[in-house]
Formats: sequence, structure tokens, C-alpha cells
Amino acid sequence: MEHLLEAKELSKYYTTPNGPLHAVEQVSFTVDEKTTLGVVGESGCGKSTLGRVLVGLLDATGGDFFFEGENVTHPDKKKRKELRRKMQIIFQDPYSSLDPRMCVSDLIAEPLKALKLARGAELEKQVQELMDTVGLARRFAYSYPHELDGGRRQRIGIARALSVNPRFIVCDEPVSALDVSIQAQVLNLLKELQIEKGLTYVFITHNLSVVKHISHDILVMYCGCMVEKCPSKELFAQPLHPYTKGLLAAIPIPSLHVKKPDIVLSGEVTSPVNPKPGCRFAARCPYVSDLCKQEMPKPQELAPGHFVACHHAKEINSL
Ligand code: ADP
Ligand code: MG
Repeated sequence: MEHLLEAKELSKYYTTPNGPLHAVEQVSFTVDEKTTLGVVGESGCGKSTLGRVLVGLLDATGGDFFFEGENVTHPDKKKRKELRRKMQIIFQDPYSSLDPRMCVSDLIAEPLKALKLARGAELEKQVQELMDTVGLARRFAYSYPHELDGGRRQRIGIARALSVNPRFIVCDEPVSALDVSIQAQVLNLLKELQIEKGLTYVFITHNLSVVKHISHDILVMYCGCMVEKCPSKELFAQPLHPYTKGLLAAIPIPSLHVKKPDIVLSGEVTSPVNPKPGCRFAARCPYVSDLCKQEMPKPQELAPGHFVACHHAKEINSL
């Protein structure tokens, strides 16, 4: 089967007064239709930047991105418009991405109007249907974002994303700002919508326990780089990269039923501004060698579908 998404050594650098900041460094992956790729890593590792590059809100510095088998890394105006219907993004804090002066029904109608997809009575009908789909009671149609709780605000964000009938949605920490009880409701909604509408997600979060239940595959990022990518179950059962082992060791294990790896993450995260050559994790890695400091490891497929970017992954894991 053809993949719906394919990133090939995709990079995004920001220009800063101190030099280029390597926010995303040569990240490669594929995502099949109707599946979810979870993207995890600590704050600042480049998750949001990657998500924005994927939906075309940021222009890639290097590499290629394919959607529906077509290279859409630098789309022309016409293509960009077409992609705005097919790709959407849901943000962590819907409050800051929603215009506070617009009521719920206007907020949901906005993308439909902007892309001239509906108007008049048809627009009204579609807005009502979208509110039903995301579980927003119709009595909130004329409420303003500040009158609603975080969960309902996020439902507006989801309705807006769905309004244009996309195939692919980047969910950027969509539940991170919500109370734990509401997180589960919103996650369930996203899961149901995926099945109902055949959606493909890239689901970004700093919280591994959130992606565990929603992702088919998980991609772990460290300082702009992809360090590991594999099926979700395998990541929790057999993490192969020292950083992933450390991440898993840092979360409460009982709920996850995995053996506690014995790596403790310590030391400073390498600066992504003008980074030194070599592995970004070298300064914190207990297995660091001279090679690690000289050469950035490329992802290798060490088991079917299990990619690891570590010079010593084989020895460490006795593979
Ligand atoms: P995450 O979502 O994982 O927290 P981000 O993608 O937001 O990470 O940020 C990755 C890196 O890029 C960070 O070092 C951040 O400070 C930097 N960064 C993000 N946006 C900008 C920007 N507009 N200009 C310069 N640097 C940025
Ligand atoms: Mg972010």
C-alpha cells in the first residue's frame, strides 16, 4: 500500500542571532492511511515545528515531504489551497488560537467560509452537524470561548479542523492543557472520529502515556532528531535507544505494565543552535563513544518496522 505521508530527511532550521537553530534535523518516516503516528519528546525537541512543517504552516529547510504520493514540500499557490482542505492542525491551547470575539457557530463556520465550501442555510446546517459530531450541545452555538471550559474549547478546535473534511490532521498536544478527566473524553472523541471518517493523525505530545493508547507507531524525538520509531506496543515492551529507555524510566510504570529500564536521564540537553557534529544525545548517554561525538547516527531498521538512530544500539541490546 502506498503511504499517505512520507517524510524524507525533513529539516527545519530557524535563523537566530547566534546562528541557525536546528529545530528539526533530517527526520524520516512514513504514515499509512487511517493510522496514527505519535510523536513524543521533551519540550523544545522540535515536535511543534515538525507538525507545522507537515501541514505547510512552515517551509522546510531541507528534505522532502510526500502526501498522497506527491512531493508537496514546496507547493505552488494552487496546490497549497488544495492542501488546506486536506490537512488540518489542532493546537494545544484552543483559547489562543480562537478569536475571542467570535461565538462558537461563527468559529466553526469560519474555515468553511474562508474556503468557500458552504454558505447560507447549508452553512448553518453543516455547523450544527459539526457541533453534534464533536459533542458540543447546540445551546452553546452563541457562547464565546471564554464562557466555555477547556474541553469544550478543544471541541471547537476539533470541529473547525473537521469542517473542511480533511484526510490528515496534526494534533499538537491537544489534551495537554486539559484536566485529566476531560483528557480521556477528548482522546476518545479523536479515536472515534478517526474510525468514522478514516482520518490519519500525527499526534504530538510530551506525555508518553497519552500516545500509548492512540498511536499505531511512535516516533521519539530528541533535540530535533528522530532517535527511534516503531509500533507503539514494541516501544513500551522493548525500547532500543538509550534515550527512549530513559524516557520510559521517568514515567510511572504500573499503569504501563513494562519492565523498568535502568537508565536515568541526567545532564544538559545539547543546544540546537549550531549543534556540534555527532549524536545529539552523546552528552547525556551512558554508552557514549568517540564515534558518537564525531558522527550523527542514521536510523537503522534493527527489527521489522523498528528504526533506531544509535551507533551502539545492537551491542546495548545484544541484538
Ligand atoms: P516542541 O514543540 O517539541 O516543544 P518546538 O518545535 O516548539 O518544540 O521548538 C523546537 C526548537 O525551536 C526550540 O529550541 C525552540 O526554542 C525553537 N523555536 C521554535 N519556534 C521558533 C521560532 N519561531 N524562532 C526561533 N526558534 C524557534
Ligand atoms: Mg510544542
